[in-house]
Amino acid sequence: MVISKQQLVKWLERFTTVLEENKDYLTELDAAIGDADHGINMVRGFQKVTAELPTVAQQDIGSILKMVSMTLISTVGGASGPLYGTLFLRASTAVANKQELTEQDVLQMLQAGLEGISKRGQAQPGDKTMVDALAPAVAAFEQAIIVENKPLPVAVQQAVAAAEQGMKNTVPMVAKKGRASYLGQRSAGHQDPGATSCYLMLKSLWESI
Ligand code: ADP
Ligand code: MG
Repeated sequence: MVISKQQLVKWLERFTTVLEENKDYLTELDAAIGDADHGINMVRGFQKVTAELPTVAQQDIGSILKMVSMTLISTVGGASGPLYGTLFLRASTAVANKQELTEQDVLQMLQAGLEGISKRGQAQPGDKTMVDALAPAVAAFEQAIIVENKPLPVAVQQAVAAAEQGMKNTVPMVAKKGRASYLGQRSAGHQDPGATSCYLMLKSLWESI
């Protein structure tokens, strides 16, 4: 089983719709421990991505993901723009010139994206960031593909479950990175907005394949 280019495009469109549906929710989460713009930032970025999709639809998957990266970096202010931009940039390099993605391609894409975000943002698991959703998701995907030899959709489903748990685990954490870290102990008791959008991104992928 592979992820086709059509499914990849569908994922980006689906994620845009899901972000629109969750715009107020993400912004409320950010209002509690940040500056109340995460939903606005993500919707602005991905609406532009969706608008640009027809211009790259004939190109390979790496080029499509590169467009996503460039669009996010240029349209999304705040921490999340460069961080998601880096994720998609590293993902695009991992799958350059591909017309479809195998299990191994998806694994490499996720690993490269996580590595990019971690390097760029310097966040460790436990710092109450998007890394707390993405890192367990990548680990679960790897376990499903490499160790358990599961089919691609099952592996994605397990990654989504791990991201959801990782997102929930951010609630008691004290933020060590980003705006929420300015609050110190007062950041505890709230779910991280970036971990939430990251879970929604993976859930949208599962819904698209
Ligand atoms: P800003 O904080 O600049 O307003 P957003 O509100 O769009 O940007 O995004 C906030 C999210 O960005 C946080 O919830 C967190 O998940 C993520 N984030 C912030 N700083 C970092 C970092 N250094 N590494 C990883 N993720 C981070
Ligand atoms: Mg914010």
